Amino acid sequence: MACTAPPLQLAEALFQNAVEQSAIAIAITDTTARIVYVNRAFTAMTGYSADDVIGLNQSVLSYKTTPKAVYQELWANISAGRDWSGRLLNRRKDGTPYIAELTVTPVTSAAGERDVTHFLGMHRDVTKEYRQSCQLAYHKQLIESVVSVAPMAVALLDSEGKVVLDNPAYQSVVNDLKIKEPAHSVLTVLRENLGEAFDLAAARRRPLLNNELRFERPGAEPRWYSCSVAWFEEHPTAIDAFHQNAKSVYQLLLMHDISISKRQQEALGLALMRERLSENEYNQSVREALSGAVFQLQGPINLIAAATRLQRRRAGAAAVNDPLVRALVDAQEAGERAIATLQAAIPEELQTPVGPVNLNEIIRDVLMLETDTFLSAGVTVDWCPALILPSLQGDPSALRIVFRQLIRNAVEAMNTSGWSERNLHLSTSTRGGRIEAAISDTGPGIPEATRFKVFEPFFSTKRACKGARGMGLTVAQDVVSRHRGVLEIDPDYTDGCRLRLSFPHNHPPPSDPGALE
Ligand code: FAD
Repeated sequence: MACTAPPLQLAEALFQNAVEQSAIAIAITDTTARIVYVNRAFTAMTGYSADDVIGLNQSVLSYKTTPKAVYQELWANISAGRDWSGRLLNRRKDGTPYIAELTVTPVTSAAGERDVTHFLGMHRDVTKEYRQSCQLAYHKQLIESVVSVAPMAVALLDSEGKVVLDNPAYQSVVNDLKIKEPAHSVLTVLRENLGEAFDLAAARRRPLLNNELRFERPGAEPRWYSCSVAWFEEHPTAIDAFHQNAKSVYQLLLMHDISISKRQQEALGLALMRERLSENEYNQSVREALSGAVFQLQGPINLIAAATRLQRRRAGAAAVNDPLVRALVDAQEAGERAIATLQAAIPEELQTPVGPVNLNEIIRDVLMLETDTFLSAGVTVDWCPALILPSLQGDPSALRIVFRQLIRNAVEAMNTSGWSERNLHLSTSTRGGRIEAAISDTGPGIPEATRFKVFEPFFSTKRACKGARGMGLTVAQDVVSRHRGVLEIDPDYTDGCRLRLSFPHNHPPPSDPGALE
């Protein structure tokens, strides 16, 4: 159906109704700003009826605090036939102020663009918006000041893992640890340590609080940080996402330096640790001595058992009364009783609670405990820890004994008269979801022929030495295996001996480890 244009009178009436009923306050003035028309919204907003203001200048709305320069700019534009938009402080009829966002458009006659006959003023109350933006700016400023003076390091990461905001304390961490973005290392290790719990907290936007992480650089004191992470969502400000429900997730990381209290704890714990290690070692040596005795006894008893069987066969039916058979049986039974007595006397292994263990911390503890050993043997120690390690689930005391044993073995190998190269190198690293440690010495090394034998029980190349029972590496390998780890001699190392240890992380690595980097 074809549309026909409405008659002129109808169009004028429609236009008038539209202006009258518009939700925006509209005023039409002459060229001196004297009001000739106001609509309903103008009255609703200002409190002035048409009768109140027709014939008055628009300045009736002025709160008299808007700077003169604003009006000068307004007039300069509209007098030149251009639109002007800006914000003014207005006063309602009841005296209350409001902020008006005003647009003034010159209205020209049919004669031409230069013939301005009226001005059209349209304004809306933006007081609420203004207050909100002021509050927002204030809160932003407040948060920035709090964050900047906060003693803890703060880093805000966007959904791509980029640090978009940090504070001076975070920059101090960057300088102290000499890494570009400590937040990435912290989040990666927290994710490795906590496994699914980390992903769950992120998905549910639940904060993770006070997770202690340890950083260690070669030649420097270790640093500890209590780390907390919180997640929050932000609606994107991009205009094209206006109707979409997309959200950006931000991660807020707080790192509180707890190194001083940790160092104090460490100093207090050292004496206790030394005592526990000695107790453990004593227990271990009793276990080894008794196991050794059982092992030594088992051989002759096996021989007696074989001789008994042989003699029984030889004696045939007369075996029951054969005095030699009886003597052999008596000897075998006495031996077995002795073995049972010895086995019953083997003390239980001392158990310590299993929990998250930091391998850097274990090795450092042992190095501190063994300082005297290094000094007396003239061994120089080169300790190269990974800056930060994920934890492994384990028994710290048992692992300390392992490293102490391996370190002592290395020192002993170099501490022979005439041996001049006496360097011990220790390092830790992470690779492919595992935590690795290496202990290298510049001693004579282990010949290829005995490389596997050294892990066998009671095998020792120093059998003559007092106290050598040949159980050190056996026990070490057993403890490492119980931690689902591997202990092996590096066959490619030719400058001495290098032992490699590797353990799985506390939790399997996340499926997408790069997401936070
Ligand atoms: P005035 O002495 O009136 O003017 C201050 C300055 O404005 C002068 O120094 C002069 O440079 C300039 N000026 C004033 N009149 C003219 C003119 N006719 N030609 C050229 N320059 C001139 N003001 C508000 O405070 N609130 C409003 O909501 C508002 N709405 C307006 C809507 C329209 C359509 C128009 C045309 C003007 C509006 N004004 C409004 C401006 C208002 O007319 C006054 O100029 C302003 O309020 C200042 O008034 P005053 O008495 O303080 O100073």
